[in-house]
Amino acid sequence: MKNLLEGTVVGIYDELRVQNPDWCDCTLCRTDVIAHALNAARPRYSGGTDVGQALISVDLQRDQTRASLAVLVLDAMRRVASNPRHELPGKKEGRPRSGA
Ligand SMILES: [Zn+2]
Repeated sequence: MKNLLEGTVVGIYDELRVQNPDWCDCTLCRTDVIAHALNAARPRYSGGTDVGQALISVDLQRDQTRASLAVLVLDAMRRVASNPRHELPGKKEGRPRSGA
């Protein structure tokens, strides 16, 4: 269930990233956005039964669900952009120092 939701969120993030060329796609920003979005989305998908998982898998393919998740991802992108963990914005040369 977690992987299913995560995969959907990552897919939506990738779509939104392409639509926002200015978006910083460094590892830190990407990880933060996905984490924020997943945290926001998870409460809706709590429930551990097989039936629940089947419903989730169908639910995640609905346009309406994807649209709702896209809102969460966009909100996460705004949050991360306003308080990025990478180095100063505008200073995009090179790769971020990951490893933390
Ligand atoms: Zn970044």
